[in-house]
Amino acid sequence: MKKSLAEYHTLIDLFEEFRELIKPKVINGVPDFTAVAMERQHSGLRLLQNRLGTIEISNWDISKQVDYHVVRAEMNGVEFDHSVLKQWSRDPGFYNLSDGIYPRLLVHHSRSLSDWGLYEPSVPLSTKDQKDFKVKLKAIPELFNQAKFNLIDAVPDLAEIAIRVKEKDIQLLESFMKDFSVHHSELLPIVEEAIAATKDFRDWLIEKKDTMIGKVGIGKDNYNWWMKNVHLIPYRWDEFYTMIHSEYNRAISFLKIEENKNKGKPEFQITANEDENISRQHDAVLKLMKFLNDEEIINFPDKLEPLPKNQYPRVWGSSAYKRADHIGFFEQTNDREPMTNIAHVFFGHYYVGNRKIWYQKDDDRHIRGKIRLYDIHEARSEALAFGIEEWLMQAGLFDDRPRSREITYVWQAFRNARALSDLKMHSNEFSLENGINFFSDNVPNAWAGKNDDAVWWDIEETLRAPGHSTNYIVGKNMIHQLMAERSKQLGSDFSIRKFFDEFMNGGIIPISLSRWELTGYKDQMQSL
Ligand SMILES: [Zn+2]
Repeated sequence: MKKSLAEYHTLIDLFEEFRELIKPKVINGVPDFTAVAMERQHSGLRLLQNRLGTIEISNWDISKQVDYHVVRAEMNGVEFDHSVLKQWSRDPGFYNLSDGIYPRLLVHHSRSLSDWGLYEPSVPLSTKDQKDFKVKLKAIPELFNQAKFNLIDAVPDLAEIAIRVKEKDIQLLESFMKDFSVHHSELLPIVEEAIAATKDFRDWLIEKKDTMIGKVGIGKDNYNWWMKNVHLIPYRWDEFYTMIHSEYNRAISFLKIEENKNKGKPEFQITANEDENISRQHDAVLKLMKFLNDEEIINFPDKLEPLPKNQYPRVWGSSAYKRADHIGFFEQTNDREPMTNIAHVFFGHYYVGNRKIWYQKDDDRHIRGKIRLYDIHEARSEALAFGIEEWLMQAGLFDDRPRSREITYVWQAFRNARALSDLKMHSNEFSLENGINFFSDNVPNAWAGKNDDAVWWDIEETLRAPGHSTNYIVGKNMIHQLMAERSKQLGSDFSIRKFFDEFMNGGIIPISLSRWELTGYKDQMQSL
């Protein structure tokens, strides 16, 4: 075996060991995030990082070197967890059962467990689900006991979010009481104990919040470290700010231009009921898939089913039909024109099992084929999904519905306003309250109220995964750069379809790595 190939196998072995290391030890269903367990994980990580550093990659081909940097970035993600984020001791929301919108159990542990917990149960439960539910529900009181010991550096603003989510957790558990009453009465006492423990933990947070210290943001230097070493993005906080501020202004300006162009045209027809809503989304999915084919945008497998109904954005937990009294941002936009969000979901969140997106489904490469951790997966797929909204619009997707262009710009303003809050909260110029207010106040038409779950959930996510919101915009712009460079390199051989196909085939990795692999340009990697 050639030496470089042998070394590549060393990388794969190391990657597999690493993925094992970060799974917390689960004792009777309770993941162990105690200080001792975390210290053990941190020392284990250092040993693996040292071994990674000894692998000589200079004579590998680029695609193998890219895999090396993917592993390095993920290890840096864990390092950042231990040195800065310390969710287990800093963020009470780490112990959420739901995440404010989605009904999931023990959701945030899944960050390292790669187990997204249980969704809303469909009763009667299968034997497997019955077992899972029992274990996870039983773990809840013990989990909160552990949380009270672990949360030695809890941040008051993060506690504030967790207290809010606790109400959702309680609602979720109470819905289980109803669901289980007929078929699974043996689970009822366990659910009752879980409800009591959740209320107790909520009350504990309320009582302790005023004694907590610590800032909501991680600070600019840490933000820059995370972006450079985990997301492999060659820009810094100040450049992010300039870029996103200018994108926000562009979104609002283009919205105003569209509104001017559309004055006098018929108003939006807002969907009147759930059936109409579903049927409009279904029409949008079919139209999108036909458009992608007819306009030669991207290849997709013949056997790919249209986006299934349970993945329509409008039937997420944030549905006015589930909470009849609530019209939030998703409802305001999707009930006027669902296509922007349908296109986003089709490219960014059309899962075909185990969190794999359709274009990644048959990717069984040892490293690339895995779901990326530490928000690397989301950073890349959200950038693509966000970019596609306007690219398809400019490609003619809304030529028959001119007014719908406005919705795409409203979404852009929403994403950019949220990203500015992300930046300012992490630089500690904004408190949580400032972040919520700024975000809400800068969404057009007052469509994202300060109490809207979509606002709170997004803010929470970006505090937990710094840069989650900024990566949509910065990543989209990095794809623009790549498209410009590939079109120059390929000249008349360039086509949009070829571009998207090669971009997707590289797998879900940081965009700077895709660029290196596709163009051969090393300049960004030299600083990363
Ligand atoms: Zn998305």
